[in-house]
Amino acid sequence: MYFTFPQSWIAPAIAAAAIQFGPPLNSSQDAHVQVKYRSLPGQALGGFKYWDTILIDRKPRREWPKWKAQCVLVHEYGHLTGENHARRRSSIMHRLLVKETCARWRRVHGLT
Ligand SMILES: [Zn+2]
Repeated sequence: MYFTFPQSWIAPAIAAAAIQFGPPLNSSQDAHVQVKYRSLPGQALGGFKYWDTILIDRKPRREWPKWKAQCVLVHEYGHLTGENHARRRSSIMHRLLVKETCARWRRVHGLT
């Protein structure tokens, strides 16, 4: 069995990401973004497809902490809007999840 994110984690993360990044490339509405759980290659925590779907790795694992789940959702949402990876580790679009960057983004964007 794999852990699925509560809707109460997903909705505010997507809403905050939409304020920063704007709508997904295929849509004017962030409400259409779906979250699906798949076995992703390697160490990947997340991915995306079709400009409207966020993929979350579903290898059996312990429960994700909320901060990590929301940071992966925000990062993948960024890709749905056409964002590429950023070089700066202080960017939420850095290719690696950086705990301090996540914490700052969550604080600045009012995620709790
Ligand atoms: Zn990425």
